This record gives sequence, C-alpha cells and structure tokens, in this order.
Amino acid sequence: MSDCQQLSTQLQQKLGIVSPSPVHALQASWITAAQVKVYVKRDDLLHQIISGNKWRKLKYALLAASQRSSSRLVTFGGGHSNHVHALAYGCRALELPLTAIIRGDYRANMTPMLNDIADWGCDIKFVDKTTYQQRQNPSYLAKLARDFPNSMVIPEGGSDPLAMHGLAEIRSELVDQQHEDFDYILAPCASGGTLAGLSQAFIGTHTQIQGIAVLKGQGYLESLVAQLLENDGQQPNWHIDHQYHFGGYAKRPVELIDWCNDFSQQFALPLEPIYSGKLFYALQDKVGRGHYPKGSRILALHTGGLQGARSV
Ligand SMILES: *Cc1c(COP(=O)(O)O)cnc(C)c1O
Repeated sequence: MSDCQQLSTQLQQKLGIVSPSPVHALQASWITAAQVKVYVKRDDLLHQIISGNKWRKLKYALLAASQRSSSRLVTFGGGHSNHVHALAYGCRALELPLTAIIRGDYRANMTPMLNDIADWGCDIKFVDKTTYQQRQNPSYLAKLARDFPNSMVIPEGGSDPLAMHGLAEIRSELVDQQHEDFDYILAPCASGGTLAGLSQAFIGTHTQIQGIAVLKGQGYLESLVAQLLENDGQQPNWHIDHQYHFGGYAKRPVELIDWCNDFSQQFALPLEPIYSGKLFYALQDKVGRGHYPKGSRILALHTGGLQGARSV
C-alpha cells in the first residue's frame, strides 16, 4: 500500500466511513417497460453525517489539513448547508479548528444544522448577503488570509480541484464492484463539483454524465462545471438537464414531496426533496419518456444529504 493509500485508510477508519458504498439494482414496471437497467450507487450510506458527495469532495482537503494540524479551515454556506455540516463534523473528529461563514444572521433562529456545528465547536460567523457575495473575490479572500493566517479556505459546496480526486474514486470503486459499464450516470447538480468530477473520471469512456439541475441556473451551472474541468480539447461527456428544478433551489411543491414519499417507500430508498428527490424524479420521468435507448445501463448516484431536510 502506498503512503497516500495508507493515510486515506486511516482517515476513513477515524471518521467511520463505510466504503465502498453499495450498488443496488432498481426493479419496477416502468424500468422493464423501457427495456433498460437502472442501478443506484448508495453514497448516502457512506456515513450518517459526512454523507454522499460531501465525503467524496472533502476527503482530500481533510487529509491535507490533518497532515499539517496547526491550520484552521475556513468555509462558506447557507444555514442548512450539507457541505458545512459534513466539514464541521470531520473537523471535530480530526480536532481541526473550523470557521464557517454563514449567509444571513440566524442567531435568533438557529437551524438544526447550525445547532449541530455549534455543538461541535465550530466558530460561526454570520455575514450579510453582500459580504457573502464576495466569497470568491480575490481581495476578500486576501483579507480572510490575513485574519486567519496559515488557514485553508474551502469554497462553497466544497467544489475545488482537490474535490475532483475524491470523486474520481467512484469510478475505481465501480470497477472493483464489477459495475463499470454504464451508458449513463445521473447526479444532482448545484455547485458543479460532482458533475465535473464524474466527467473527469469517465472521460474517454462511453459513459455519458447527466447532471440534473436542482436550481434555476441554465448557463451558470455549465460555466461552473467548465471552470473545474481542464479543457483538453476532448469531446465533452457531460450535459445538464434543466427541466427538473421545480422552480429553484430548495423549492419543493407538495407534488414533489408526495412523489418523494411514494418513491422512498416503494424502493426503500431515503430521499429528500432538495437533491435526491429531484434526481430520482428526473430519472423516472426520462426513463418513462423513452429518453434512453433499449438496453441502456443507467446509474443514479445517491449523493446523500438527508440532514438538510430536517427543518423542511
Ligand atoms: C451538495 C449536494 C449536491 C450538489 O453537488 P454539487 O457538487 O454542489 O453540484 C447534491 N446532492 C447533495 C445531497 C448535496 O448535499
């Protein structure tokens, strides 16, 4: 085992990550009727708290930070953020100090997510919308570097180049699980890191990566994904579908909530309406409409994140 693999195994043991996540087939009449095969990779089962794509994206940042234990981590998110929640848990377990810059002032109105991270010793800074908008601005980042010397800043959603390494491990896991031959992989898309990571991992194969936009962001989401990908002139293997955001980020009409409850029960698959609900709704709709050629093998990535629905 290489040093890096050994460190990675130690980190997973320390945090209690259950890896690899299982792959299940889904059986239903709408799948049989379309003559396709549908599978789910259960990244929601990797961990109770650092679940799904947040573990994939944060793994190498946590590994790097734990190797230089004096450094503070700084990150950004909303009051329900799965990313901040996962990172705060990881930092507590590894005894790394974390500052979370939160959009809006929730002091009188703490969410379940914020209560958890406060319990875990996270330093919370509430900022107004205008300040939060500067989160990628070089002069604002320079000020953060002065305020928190020797710190490591992780962007909103954890979508940065280090995240791509963690996501790439999905492909090697699928190979080990003898499940590498998918024609399509579907994942929800919000800050683009997951889609970019999958695209990079599968470039040069026949697998097409389909993102399901969970917010209104045609053009914007494509630019986020493209920024994370090195443009090496290869034919893009990814696409974002904008039909299934149900009106925007965290918008969840009753129709969607009812659909999620039914689907969850039918397949014994926990869903929330912000990410995985929209993903599986899109999957069923696309399969039902005959979007996929007969014989297609389709994988949906369950990206976890069930904590975000606690205050829904
Ligand atoms: C953050 C999150 C996403 C979005 O992933 P991006 O890489 O930001 O596009 C999808 N699903 C869940 C459950 C999430 O928490």
